[in-house]
Amino acid sequence: MNNISLIHLSQSHLNLLDTCPPQFQRVYLEQLGTPLSPEKQEKLSWGNQFHQLMQQYELGLSVDLLVAKDKQMQNSLNALINAVPSLRNPSQNSWKEAEHSRTLKFKGYLLTVIYDLLIAKPEKAEILDWKTYLKPENPQKLANNWQTRLYLYILVETSDYLPEQISITYWFVKLPSQPQSLTFFYDKDKHKQNHEDLKVLLNKFENWLNEYIQENINFPHSINCQINCPYSQLLGPEQSTSITLNKAEKNWLSIIEEIQEVSLP
Ligand code: SF4
Repeated sequence: MNNISLIHLSQSHLNLLDTCPPQFQRVYLEQLGTPLSPEKQEKLSWGNQFHQLMQQYELGLSVDLLVAKDKQMQNSLNALINAVPSLRNPSQNSWKEAEHSRTLKFKGYLLTVIYDLLIAKPEKAEILDWKTYLKPENPQKLANNWQTRLYLYILVETSDYLPEQISITYWFVKLPSQPQSLTFFYDKDKHKQNHEDLKVLLNKFENWLNEYIQENINFPHSINCQINCPYSQLLGPEQSTSITLNKAEKNWLSIIEEIQEVSLP
């Protein structure tokens, strides 16, 4: 374990590790990630700029420069401010911070989260997260996503709040639709389950990583996605890590996104 101690892991790492270990190996260990399509790259860059805009707005800094050339950015900001009460009327008895980062040491790994906005009151704390796509049709998939689970888990582990005192709300901003939200509340049973599932996933990761480093064995496939995935035969413990994937590889991320129903990364 010494050689893999203090690895930083985010929710994106956990999601990919949980959903598609071979792709985790290629993206994070071999740096062979598939280049994003121009369309996806544009969406990602717009999303990043929107997050920067929200952070500047929360800090009380001018956002004029950021919205000057992009009316959609300005309209999205206005729509979100109108929709989210805590952005318009900050409560007297609360503390809040945009891009609030927390790290938890867990079984030799550093689990890291960055909350788009954390609002802390004496009796409860709320995590807010901005998404620049439409609200997903299946809320359960977002509930199961490691972003939801890790964000809530780490807040409890690094504060005095009880699980029942915290929640996470996703706001989905994609004009011309009105912003919509999804809130997930937490409790001690979910916290216990997250703790157990984290332990299991990180134990698996430790084993896969040791086998990969010491014996050149590829990370294994998940079992519940193989029927629909053309890559299930291409990578796995029996194949060489130097195998070359064909052009269709660019669809790989789409397949994983369909499984997660949440945009990567
Ligand atoms: S079957 Fe496909 S999606 Fe599932 S783990 Fe394997 S490569 Fe990933």
